[in-house]
Amino acid sequence: MTLQTGVPEDPGEATREVLPKWCRLRDVEKTWVSYYPFLLSRGYRLRPRYDPDWIPSWTLPGKKLHPSRCEDSLYIWLKDNILDAVRMTDNAKVVVKLVPTDSAELHIVNFLSDENKRSDPRNRTIPILDIFLYTDSPEYTFMVMPYMRRFNYPPFHCRGEFVDAMRQFLEGLQFMHENNIAHCDIAPKNMMMEESRVVPKGSHFTDDKTHVGMYESFWWKERCSVGPVPYYYIDFGLSHHYPDGNAGALTIGRRRGFDEIPELSDTKPYNPFKVDIYQLGMTVLDLVKTYPALDMFQPLGEKMCSKRPDDRPTPDEALQLFDGIVHGLSKSKLSARMWQRGDMLIHRITRTFCGCYIAEPHEEIEY
Ligand SMILES: [Zn+2]
Repeated sequence: MTLQTGVPEDPGEATREVLPKWCRLRDVEKTWVSYYPFLLSRGYRLRPRYDPDWIPSWTLPGKKLHPSRCEDSLYIWLKDNILDAVRMTDNAKVVVKLVPTDSAELHIVNFLSDENKRSDPRNRTIPILDIFLYTDSPEYTFMVMPYMRRFNYPPFHCRGEFVDAMRQFLEGLQFMHENNIAHCDIAPKNMMMEESRVVPKGSHFTDDKTHVGMYESFWWKERCSVGPVPYYYIDFGLSHHYPDGNAGALTIGRRRGFDEIPELSDTKPYNPFKVDIYQLGMTVLDLVKTYPALDMFQPLGEKMCSKRPDDRPTPDEALQLFDGIVHGLSKSKLSARMWQRGDMLIHRITRTFCGCYIAEPHEEIEY
């Protein structure tokens, strides 16, 4: 989404053109430079890189740092409608998303933000902190959300941590479906956790496996030692509200990246609520594959991924199956340390003795 209206002149452009190519502003970033003054007037400050008057910190007199060691060299290159910011009243880290004012996404977000719905503890959709029209271009609206990190990193310490996360996601799905919302894009990239207790040093939007965006050790506390940890679904860009209920809900069409879902078709309608079950089941199976100690949850994942949509459990039934498995686990089995299949000795040593990992490669998150 690139808006061409209201783009102010960029006084820093000439300076930036002489920067090494890799740290120049990308086209998607120039859009955010144009939003900077408006967001500032609404109380949200983007990173210094997006300030129209940005002067790269490593070019300032007396600075001898390489650009790669400076936070303002970190860039985004994929999404021009999502970026992190700071809420100036309390310095809280937030994420700002620009959506069409008449979009289904905005309707759904408003619907789920209703006071009654928000007070339901099963509402695991990300809270919305602020919504305001982009007055320079009123066909677009800004939404502000709290900053969150991916739900499956840092790695789970024990089965109890997985159980806590998955119960919240199953209840969250139950809540959405009871309210006739099909998420339509359930996947780890859209399943988040609130990090303040687990990663007290915080993480950086451009790479949440680092604290400040630099290649360094990444420290955390085990969730089971500092919980409770809240988990949330994000990104309602593909979601749909079916006010008449989900039993007869139908949609049509294939989607890029969804090839594994058997009923998706360009010609034959299918029920999107059943697709949600399948996708959450896929996430369960992925985690079982990653953590061999979670193998008792394999039958739940397989049931949720039944080839025939009618063979898949409803969220209520999936929760019952889930609870049945959990009740069969002793306290010591729930709290025993587990490892990822690919964990090497160095991972085990640093996790056990230091509580950290070395930073890993960058991945962008969609909100
Ligand atoms: Zn634990």
